[in-house]
Amino acid sequence: MKIIKTNQTSWQNRHQTFTEDIKNLYELGDEPDMDALSGYNDATKGFLNMISEAIATQTPLRSLGAGWSWTKIATVNNGIMLDTKPLNTRFDVTQNSVAAGYGGDPNYLLFAQSGMSIQEIGDYLKDKNQSLKASGASNGQTIAGAIGTGIHGSAFDFGAVQECVVGIHLIVGPNRHVYLERKTAPVVSAAFISNIQAEFIQDDDLFNAALVSFGSFGVVHGVMIETEKIFLLETYMTRMPYDDSLKNIMQTLDFTNANLPCGTERPYHFAVLLNPYDMDKGAYVTTMYKRDYNNTYSPPVDNEAGIGPGDDAPAFIGLLTESIPALVPVLVNKVLGASLSLSKVDSQNNPIPQFGTMGEIFNNTTLRGRLLSAAVGFSIANVNQVIQLMMSTNSSIGPFPGLFSFRFVKKTQATMGFTRFDQTCVMELDACYSSSVYNFYTQVWKMLEDNDIPFTFHWGKVNELYPARINNMYGAAVTSWQAARNQLLDPNTIKVFTNPILQQWGLA
Ligand SMILES: Cc1cc2nc3c(=O)[nH]c(=O)nc-3n(C[C@H](O)[C@H](O)[C@H](O)COP(=O)(O)OP(=O)(O)OC[C@H]3O[C@@H](n4cnc5c(N)ncnc54)[C@H](O)[C@@H]3O)c2cc1C
Repeated sequence: MKIIKTNQTSWQNRHQTFTEDIKNLYELGDEPDMDALSGYNDATKGFLNMISEAIATQTPLRSLGAGWSWTKIATVNNGIMLDTKPLNTRFDVTQNSVAAGYGGDPNYLLFAQSGMSIQEIGDYLKDKNQSLKASGASNGQTIAGAIGTGIHGSAFDFGAVQECVVGIHLIVGPNRHVYLERKTAPVVSAAFISNIQAEFIQDDDLFNAALVSFGSFGVVHGVMIETEKIFLLETYMTRMPYDDSLKNIMQTLDFTNANLPCGTERPYHFAVLLNPYDMDKGAYVTTMYKRDYNNTYSPPVDNEAGIGPGDDAPAFIGLLTESIPALVPVLVNKVLGASLSLSKVDSQNNPIPQFGTMGEIFNNTTLRGRLLSAAVGFSIANVNQVIQLMMSTNSSIGPFPGLFSFRFVKKTQATMGFTRFDQTCVMELDACYSSSVYNFYTQVWKMLEDNDIPFTFHWGKVNELYPARINNMYGAAVTSWQAARNQLLDPNTIKVFTNPILQQWGLA
């Protein structure tokens, strides 16, 4: 494995919202002169050696993906950060590599090294006429970083990105690396395990715990992903009144009486964005429908100024700057007006769809400026109550220099996945960077608690987690997650992969 010791002693996240003092940052890479499998196995040895050295020198390690998180989960104070992004090889899977009982088609399996980005995976799959089943609204995260915090889009009948993952190759100690999969859903054969020279563990609890584990279960070296046949998304962004009909859809995800661009058809993706400063003009509603792939469509073009259906608020919110409160509504309206591109309409005033593959619609966001993003998950049953409370909180302690957006995600199987409600509504609060925004967030979390609304925090976005809150949110899942970590990692390795935030959260 190539290891470049950069001697970097501080690190800043992608949004420049914090800087961490570190001992070093290692840029890692596969050996270019080896074939893919030899290079992959050589990197396994490299990780085992690094853990051994870290134990000997009592130096904590932490894997870094694309550095897109707002929380200090990819860093370790005075430790060594491992930049895994360049570890981006991948393997197609043959019949010989799958278990006799595997019910799927091996052609639709991809074994990806941890640093492959969602974009790289999407591009590779497109060439094979395949697609990922879900992504976030942007695709710059690495696959390990994406599952590390449990990222989601709004695929409310499918779930978050980690639901695509059916196997994880984890380096869990100086002498131990394991391939984990669910016992109830076996996928790989002994031949596959022998290729990557790992210990084979089939265990649902261990697998579900490792899925969303924010770098605390050692190094994720590779993941097995189930893909599907390539498809197009027929996408719309329209403005609709935030009325009983829309409220009912948001609260039930029942589309049988919907008046959406494709009538009552159940979309693949459904999201609602509210600008608290011009609610009289309605909500921004994004709907996306899955369609068979063809090559006659015009893919979306990059438009620096316009934000289409697949983009989320971070793409333009950095254009907002802190302002005196009285000007916030004007500023939000101005930035939104210039940035959000509604679907064009035809002569009958019907919205004209934009078509694209998953990677074309949810593409790499252009980040503009320093911004904050927080997200909480709660049951869809609470969504309209939360919206009402958000509007009154904004009137009393705002104005919030940003937007309220709502996406919908099916319950995850990951033990500590934050999309843990049967149908989770994820409310995102994206805003410009300022201390008043942090204060607003604090008041919102308190408001949810005062109103007895159970909720969880996105692990990678701004949050205020502490042990009592985590126990409240996850209950017995915390013990089961910790038990899995203790079972997979020996005590010395646990120390190596413990960082201050994990201690602060009471999960160490
Ligand atoms: C513009 C923008 C848009 C976003 N959109 C969405 C969205 O639509 N939906 C959503 O849910 N989130 C979204 N987020 C949040 C972001 O996707 C998550 O924070 C995600 O986890 C970041 O992935 P990353 O590759 O940057 O990982 P990092 O932030 O670098 O790391 C995340 C975690 O994964 C761990 N990790 C990384 N690699 C490894 C490895 N090889 N082994 C073990 N652990 C590892 C790290 O230690 C860390 O704990 C967005 C963020 C930005 C900046």
